[in-house]
Amino acid sequence: MNPWFAKAVVLTSSVIMVIIRAPHGQRSRSVTVARSRRGTLEIVLLALAWIAFFLPLAWVATPVFAFADYPSHPVSLFAGILCLALGLWLFARSHADLGTNWSITLEVRERHQLITQGVYHRVRHPMYTSLLLYSLGQALVLPNWIAGPSYGVAMVLLVGFRLGPEERMMREEFGEEYEAYMARTKRLVPGVW
Ligand code: SAH
Repeated sequence: MNPWFAKAVVLTSSVIMVIIRAPHGQRSRSVTVARSRRGTLEIVLLALAWIAFFLPLAWVATPVFAFADYPSHPVSLFAGILCLALGLWLFARSHADLGTNWSITLEVRERHQLITQGVYHRVRHPMYTSLLLYSLGQALVLPNWIAGPSYGVAMVLLVGFRLGPEERMMREEFGEEYEAYMARTKRLVPGVW
């Protein structure tokens, strides 16, 4: 199958992701950070995530990864588009629900509010679920052994290393309120884990 369609999907979904995040990034930068937990590990994980976000775009625009291409299959393309669409929807919803409480890293803002409604009602980390879904979609759509799974690898590392410290930070900040929230919700998948 000609890769032009996969390239169009990868480019469009990346642009949509940036469009969803941009206004929230700008809005939350206007709220002062009260406490930050951005250590070396966070900096490394965020740098990896940035690199992994641009590798698929390099695949779209240049032949650098052509040696690792494989033939695209319509079934994985279709399943990938579904995952991307669902991931982007959840990404938009979780940004809308978190509002200015969102940060790209581990930090608490002034007048930070604990959000437990909307897509936060049943899981504590819907944005991470959305990023994992999105990166699974990208791996299925993009027929290249390097650029395809790159964002997924970065997201698994980011989420894997961040969940524990983030929940510790939130427990320290919101105490019993967060513990009660933990008791009635799952981490990433409603009703499962
Ligand atoms: N882990 C969440 C949020 C990711 S953004 C998710 O996947 O949906 C990371 C920042 O969001 C953290 O630094 C923390 O300050 C903030 N945060 C995480 N959970 C929150 C919640 N339930 N309510 C308000 N802020 C939250």
